[in-house]
Formats: sequence, structure tokens, C-alpha cells
Amino acid sequence: DRALPADAALRARAVRVIPGGLWGHMNAARLPASFPQYFGRSEGCRLWDADGNEYIDFMCAYGPVVLGYRDAEVEAAVAARLAKGDIFNGPAPELVELAEALVDTVAHADWAMFQKNGTDATTACVTLARAGTGRRKVLVAKGAYHGAAPWCTPSLVGVTAEDRAHIAEFAYNDIASLQTAAEAAEGELAGVIVSAFRHDARRDQESPAPEFARAVRALCDRTGAALILDDVRAGFRIDIRGSWEPLGVRPDLSAWSKAIANGHPLAAVTGTDRFREAAQSTFMTGSFWCGAAAMAAALVTLRRLRDTDAIQHMKTMGERLREGLAAQARAHGVALRQTGPAQMPMLLFDDDPDLAKGDSFVKEALARGVYLHPWHNMFLSAAHRPEDIDLALEATDAALRETARRFS
Ligand code: PMP
Repeated sequence: DRALPADAALRARAVRVIPGGLWGHMNAARLPASFPQYFGRSEGCRLWDADGNEYIDFMCAYGPVVLGYRDAEVEAAVAARLAKGDIFNGPAPELVELAEALVDTVAHADWAMFQKNGTDATTACVTLARAGTGRRKVLVAKGAYHGAAPWCTPSLVGVTAEDRAHIAEFAYNDIASLQTAAEAAEGELAGVIVSAFRHDARRDQESPAPEFARAVRALCDRTGAALILDDVRAGFRIDIRGSWEPLGVRPDLSAWSKAIANGHPLAAVTGTDRFREAAQSTFMTGSFWCGAAAMAAALVTLRRLRDTDAIQHMKTMGERLREGLAAQARAHGVALRQTGPAQMPMLLFDDDPDLAKGDSFVKEALARGVYLHPWHNMFLSAAHRPEDIDLALEATDAALRETARRFS
């Protein structure tokens, strides 16, 4: 493996003062050994690790970066806002402008509220569904990620049965299981939370079947439960109006974060008038939820995503990558599965139960300056140019050849 002395030194210091070196999804212990943990610089679709190695990046900080790292217009808006102040004893005017922008852009939205992280937003949606219906039960797709709060975190360590007492599971895209779970809720159904598509880790991604999406809507209409769309990961990459808008299915409540402010910390809940009363009677807040710099970033990000071909561009770049990889996999005789929207690709190999092929492939690509993920969906940005994709494909060609050789 490559030597990353600065990275190694930081990791050695970190384990003494940070439990496990790092919490959560960005802990590099989850990745092959040669992956850097620490980064120092970013620009466009490129990252530099703490040792100064440059990568063409396909993770976009796990989604938040949608226009590209350090987009000049976004950063100028943030700098201008910071020069006048970010947090005060109340919000800055950007709060109202941004709520108006979301209500104008998001198809179902009659109102908006802001938080910081995706978990804040999904948790708020669950609370609002309960407040608005006066009921307790919430249906969640098995294996879906909605955040790291006790009601939804994938690890049960430190979670009590009571934290999950009114959470029941169904299988994504399985109408019968949805109906069974709804019947078991016996008139107590407050909401159904669904992700924009099935993007669980370590498995092929799945689009929502249109009939499944319509069945969720029909179930919520029939029972009075809230349809909660968790658009935290997919939001602003599929359809600016909401990721289920192409299916013609509108949620009652949506959770947003990640891409909303091109990397600046912000989350949002949007809702329909039916939940306005619930939203104004529930006490929800946070010290940093009115931070204006992230809102200034979001105003620029939303406008650019709405007024340019950024989303189509990400899709086109994702397709260029996908087609290139497919041709290379055929040429090297490896069975590579590419699933999900092209702008949020997942790469998994056939006959790879312990993901050793995936690890080999991403390690070889990383050594050639391309940062891919072995088992999590990846993200394209509007800053990926055709020439970046073509350069990345040169690296993946060698990485696939090497992987094919090793596993033949
Ligand atoms: N929902 C989905 C679909 C997500 O992908 C994530 C984050 N990966 C969350 C919720 C939680 O967001 P955060 O990590 O910002 O709390």
C-alpha cells in the first residue's frame, strides 16, 4: 500500500482523543487500507488528501457537493454573508427568501422549516406526522437509512426497545408487505417514510416501482397517514421539484439536506398546508438552525440547479462513466453491476460475497488518482467535465484489468 505519512500521523493522534479514531460513515476503517482518512483541499470534482495526493472524486463528500467543491458563486455568497454576520438573535432575511424559493420550487411544498443535518429533518418529519395525525405508528422500509437518531439508526447499540416501539417495517417496493404493516398498525398509522429510491448500502440500488409509489400514496390517503419522502440523499440530483415528481406522486412532508447548500450545513423540511398547524405547534429548534451563511449558499445552489442544466449534466456525466465502465468490464471479462440513477451510481461485482473484488477495484483506482466507493452509492456533480470522466476511465480500465487478473 501507498505511504500516507501525514494521514498515518493524524490517525495515530486521533485514536487517543477520538473514540475509534472517527465516528460514523466517514471512518476510513470501513474502506480498504490505502484510503486516506484526512483531506486538506478540494476544488471542482477534485480532492487532495492530507498528504497532498490528488483524486478525481466520485463521492462529493457523500452527497452534499452538487455544483462542485468550492463553487465560486456559492463561496462568494457565503463570504458576503459572513462579512456581515452568520448567526444573530434571530434569522437573517435569507431565511424568508429561502423558504419562498423552496415553496416555489418543490412541488408539494406550502411551507418550509430549516435544520442542520438530515437526521434533524427526518426526525422532524416523523414528529410532525405524529403531531398532525394524533397517532403513533410509523412505517419504515427495512434496511433503509434515515439517519442516526434512536428511532432509525442502523446500530441498535444504546437503543432501547421503547425507542422503536412504534416503528414497524415493510419491504421497499413490496406493496403486499406495506399493506400488511399498515394493517398491523390498526388505525394508529401516523406516517410512512420512504427514500426517493432504494439506496441501501452493499446491495443493488432499485428505482421505486411507479405502482409502489402510487400504493404508498393511496394507503396514506385512505388511512390519513402522512407520506414522508426522505429526499436527504437523492434530493436536488433527480428532479428539483422533488424526487417522486416524475412518478406523479407527491408527499405530504419531505426531508432535505446534503446537496441543498452545496456543502454548507443545512437541512429542510417542506410540507403541505395539512401539516402547517402541526409544524407551528411542535417545539423544534437548534442553536445553529438559523445560520444565514448556509442559507445564502442554498439560495445560490437552488437557483443554479433550477436555471441551468446541472441535473441533466450530472446524469450525462454519470452515463458517460457507466457506459465506459460497462465496456471495460466486458473487455476484461468481469461481471460488474451498475445500478441506480447514473448521477448516483452503485458499483458491485458478481460472485463477490466479501466484497474483495470491489475492494481490489477501488484500491487500484485510488492508486491511479480516482476516488470510488466499494459498496456505497456514489455521487456525480455539475463540476465533473467529460475530460474528468475520460481521465477517470483510464484509471478504471487499469483497475479492472488488475482486478480481473487477481480473481481469475
Ligand atoms: N436520510 C438519508 C436518505 C440519508 O442518506 C442520510 C445521510 N446519509 C440521512 C437521512 C441522515 O442525514 P445526516 O447524516 O445529515 O443526519
